[in-house]
Amino acid sequence: RDRLFGGLKRTSEKLGDNLTGLFGKAALDAQTLDEIEEALIVSDLGPAMAMRVRDRLAEGRFNKELTEEYLRGVIADEVEKVLTPVAKPLQFKAARPHVILVIGVNGSGKTTTIAKLAKRFQEQGRSVMLAAGDTFRAAAIGQLTIWAERLGVPIVAGKEGGDAAGLAFEAVKQATEKGIDILIVDTAGRLQNRTELMDELAKIRRVLGRLDPASPHDVVLVLDATTGQNALSQIEVFTQVAQVTGLVMTKLDGSARGGMLVAAAEKFGLPIHAIGVGEKIDDLRPFDPADMARAIAG
Ligand code: GDP
Repeated sequence: RDRLFGGLKRTSEKLGDNLTGLFGKAALDAQTLDEIEEALIVSDLGPAMAMRVRDRLAEGRFNKELTEEYLRGVIADEVEKVLTPVAKPLQFKAARPHVILVIGVNGSGKTTTIAKLAKRFQEQGRSVMLAAGDTFRAAAIGQLTIWAERLGVPIVAGKEGGDAAGLAFEAVKQATEKGIDILIVDTAGRLQNRTELMDELAKIRRVLGRLDPASPHDVVLVLDATTGQNALSQIEVFTQVAQVTGLVMTKLDGSARGGMLVAAAEKFGLPIHAIGVGEKIDDLRPFDPADMARAIAG
């Protein structure tokens, strides 16, 4: 929790900077409302949230004094309302293995997040297997293999340049034989070539679906929160190339752009399963909308 509040300090400070001078005036007027709306947009919270806060203030404080405390209270309140419906941990059904496809651009924190999820599931008493499906990057295969060894979980990995769908198929077969609860499949994150990426993800999906029509049971998109608006466009692209079922936001420690999470929730309504607050294996947190709202609003 401290990690979250510490991590989002820069986000709330940025919001505070953008709001400087907008409260404490004798009476809240239309121009100040415009400026507050603008400040919220500049703070990455998104136009819809900016409008909500504006409307609340116009209703409750117009022509009255607006204090910083009141303003931050309204922001926290509205943010929590938007975040609450999307806060959903991953849910497991009867399927064995439950297959989680993890997608996202290179550098977003995909590999690290897979390891963090694996650790969390292990702690819940579930058996986990990994599949190194990012066959385009030898480094990704290597990195995931190191995590698997550290965690003591089996991994199915092929050679660089190998067929990712074939690997995923093999992984499910092995996971089934071993009675594994959860199989986490890494994928390549090459957004540069959208058609190829789409084809590859579609092929993995087809192959998995042959073994179990409901598989993959989750398609989790990993997003780097420090990239702000860029992360929003990644959601747009990935929801077009894959049937994304939920999000994990990484690097919320020390990011000034944590507000994007609110804009993302409002614009796409996708479940947020967890957040990354550091590079270590235990730095994955469940997504708590009330804490998050307060950390952002400051
Ligand atoms: P991938 O290319 O998407 O697989 O990304 P990696 O998992 O290799 O992560 C890229 C970099 O981001 C690494 O240096 C990670 O340690 C770092 N990283 C991942 N998640 C987080 C996080 O939540 N917070 C911070 N500060 N760094 C992270």
